[in-house]
Amino acid sequence: MSTPPDAQRMEKIVSLCKRRGFIFQSSEIYGGLNGAWDYGPLGVELKRNLKNYWWQVTVHERDDVVGMDGSILTHPAVLQASGHVEGFSDPMIDCRTCKAHLRSDQLVEKKGVKQCPNCGGKDLTAPRQFNLMFETHVGAAADESSIAYLRPETAQSIFVQFKNILEVSRKKLPFGIAQIGKAFRNEINPRNFTFRSREFEQMELEYFCRAEQGMELLEYWKEERLKFYENIGIPRSKLHVLTVPDDERAFYSKGTYDIEYDFPFGRQELEGVAYRTDYDLSQHQKKSGKPLEYFDEETKQRFVPHVVEPSAGVDRTVLALICEAYSEDQAPDEKGKMEARIVLRFHPRMAPVKCGVFPLLKNNPQLVAKAREIVALLRPHMTVFYDESGAIGRRYRRQDEIGTPFGVTVDFETLGEKDAALRDTVTLRDRDSMKQERVSIHDLAGILQTRIG
Ligand code: ATP
Repeated sequence: MSTPPDAQRMEKIVSLCKRRGFIFQSSEIYGGLNGAWDYGPLGVELKRNLKNYWWQVTVHERDDVVGMDGSILTHPAVLQASGHVEGFSDPMIDCRTCKAHLRSDQLVEKKGVKQCPNCGGKDLTAPRQFNLMFETHVGAAADESSIAYLRPETAQSIFVQFKNILEVSRKKLPFGIAQIGKAFRNEINPRNFTFRSREFEQMELEYFCRAEQGMELLEYWKEERLKFYENIGIPRSKLHVLTVPDDERAFYSKGTYDIEYDFPFGRQELEGVAYRTDYDLSQHQKKSGKPLEYFDEETKQRFVPHVVEPSAGVDRTVLALICEAYSEDQAPDEKGKMEARIVLRFHPRMAPVKCGVFPLLKNNPQLVAKAREIVALLRPHMTVFYDESGAIGRRYRRQDEIGTPFGVTVDFETLGEKDAALRDTVTLRDRDSMKQERVSIHDLAGILQTRIG
């Protein structure tokens, strides 16, 4: 059972994202561009942490995967061969009453009659196919000969560069090529905040193998990807694996899983893991006339490899991280009275700022100097935020709201004024438990690095 949609929670999350600088509407001062989003100072850090961690576990920690970074502008022949020019479309229906353009799966059905979800209108056009690709022109001539597309997925440049990368990396099957980058789809109805955007980022791995390994590797990568989400703080209990039924899978796929997450607006896809067989490489080989085969030196066989593709969305995962982290609880104020607190419980690995550093008083030069020293000590290892303004409880609260897992306070004990044994120690506060412990400045970077993971 998926949890019921929680519109109020989603509204609070969207408002926090703007208020604290995670995500802004694109071109906001001109009324906004639908389906496009800008990430602010904290959003960009969160996004980078996610992409860096994906790259670390998918590329750097493995012997069998290399990376690439392909161009966004794509030759039309690539997307003709892949089938996107012909078939990358959604069925679109217009409501004649309120003029809304709708994806046909968005219609609501009441007493067996299809209705517009916005106005309830029943006067609807017949469905027609709407291609989701953004077309542009390269160079000065704006005619048929200059058409190019903004890529609708990062995968195709991997297939097109397969032979070059195979040659330079000298990898043996099975091996993968990974890429993180922008993709563009002219979605009929962008919605649910960043969930369905027209410009978004993907993290894709094409893992090439022999035909007989395909189904086994599909299972392997599904499990690897589930572990990944757990390692960034999305619990297994909120993830669901949907086996895409035969009649809904792409015709060339022998097996596809959707990894779904319980968003506040319902259970929705985070990532697809698909066994795409040898379809893409075979198509490109056929249409380009260039061999894209693999030569097995042991068996002396030449064949087109098969591929398993875990394809994740950066923006969707960022949104899932924020939704998962958002919580409200009670914390004591300056006088010990309990007050409501908003806290983003990010996994420390994902948190945009890892540690807040606070001198107890801003007008005490010794406290300030010590706090600045600690900032300089930690900065080579992690993102740090220095804050000297306002009561200490307020400063903690500001960091809680952006998900900073650790707070370090420099007080008079640090200066050795009360007890010489406490000189050069600080209080280290944990965001979630709000517990404070006394640690030596000398050990601080090591302790924090271990806890960040
Ligand atoms: P959906 O069914 O939600 O349209 P899809 O099945 O078409 O998604 P894929 O083509 O499998 O998506 O793309 C892989 C991943 O790219 C998705 O799981 C998602 O995380 C991300 N993605 C796809 N379309 C969008 C979009 N419009 N906005 C944000 N992320 C997207």
